[in-house]
Amino acid sequence: MWKWPTVALSYAGCYQAKKSMKVIEIFYSLQGEGRLAGVPSAFVRLAGCPLRCRWCDTKYAWSEAAGREMSIDEIEKEISTFDTPYLIITGGEPMHCPGFVELIKAVAGPRRHITIETAGIYFIAGMPCDLMSINPKLSNSAPKDPELAAEHNSKCFNLNVLQNLIENYDYQLKFVIDEPEDLDMVALCLDKLKEVDPFKVYLMPQATTCEEYLRKSKWLAQACLKTGFSFSPRLQVMLWNNQPGR
Ligand code: SF4
Repeated sequence: MWKWPTVALSYAGCYQAKKSMKVIEIFYSLQGEGRLAGVPSAFVRLAGCPLRCRWCDTKYAWSEAAGREMSIDEIEKEISTFDTPYLIITGGEPMHCPGFVELIKAVAGPRRHITIETAGIYFIAGMPCDLMSINPKLSNSAPKDPELAAEHNSKCFNLNVLQNLIENYDYQLKFVIDEPEDLDMVALCLDKLKEVDPFKVYLMPQATTCEEYLRKSKWLAQACLKTGFSFSPRLQVMLWNNQPGR
């Protein structure tokens, strides 16, 4: 039985001001998921994530030491070569990366639309973020190794953090669904959060290949029709089988 972790995971204490950071990759592609799916966007993938999810498609971004050290100026120079106002800061878990706050403040501007892709395990107030794209990790994403699973389950879900994110930012909540039973966990999660706008809730099939994506999409589409939540595509899986840099 899934138990809601009671340990608070806040950002305070793990943050240090930094002018450079570990970057896994910077690339230009289509936003794959959620309300902006299909929009040509620049992506900055930062290093580090403590969760080790079972079906993580960016395991190469787990280590804080992975990638190349880049200054904010170098990152800005690279993203400004892409002809789009849409910028996505992702990971790993981008808010876990020292330097994240300086980066987001430096690259924000009136002609940029910034999406933060996050698992929703850290809350930082006052960021210039146009869309907080939250992908809460439920117990269905726990690693198989029991020790790692215990670690994952103690950190992956924090109601206070999630509530703060949805109250302080324009947001979307995206849930990865592997099996029909996962829908019960989504319902439980939404039940515990206050004032969630159902039009901002998306269900997405768990898949690492296009074939698996199409197979699961069929029953998930029916589940969306039943629940009223939106189906989110995962274009990165459907078009490119989860290739890094796409
Ligand atoms: S939170 Fe995201 S990046 Fe981190 S392990 Fe889970 S799926 Fe991978």
